[in-house]
Amino acid sequence: MTVTHTLTITTTPDGLETDWTHPTDCPDGDTCDFLRRISRMGIHDMVDLGTNRPDGTYNLARFGFHSLCLIGDDGHILHPAEPAPTPQAGDPNGCHWCGINQRTHARQYTEQPGWHTWTQPTNAQIKARMLARRSAT
Ligand SMILES: [Zn+2]
Ligand SMILES: [Zn+2]
Repeated sequence: MTVTHTLTITTTPDGLETDWTHPTDCPDGDTCDFLRRISRMGIHDMVDLGTNRPDGTYNLARFGFHSLCLIGDDGHILHPAEPAPTPQAGDPNGCHWCGINQRTHARQYTEQPGWHTWTQPTNAQIKARMLARRSAT
């Protein structure tokens, strides 16, 4: 039986907090590879793992020789989370990619999709932005 090693990510007003405890039922005890890797990685690497991820508890897996990564329920590696493509608040009809209003948009550069002109936001985006705007005030 394999014991799962998990990392809990919590967003606080001061930033990201990562919490990890070594499972007491881990058969490897003090010689556990996860334990060794985590003590090497340090807090900044742990925070990197959680950057842009929703709060929650994630399964840890070994990555490379010394590093760790997070894996999903299906056992696949969760790649570093991408920032949301659009700001959630702001103009509901803003560009799909960057959220800028059509009138002032012209050409803009964002990580995805790079240089682009104003792009129609999806209905779901418009709705989410309207809700975000309402809850922001
Ligand atoms: Zn262990
Ligand atoms: Zn745009």
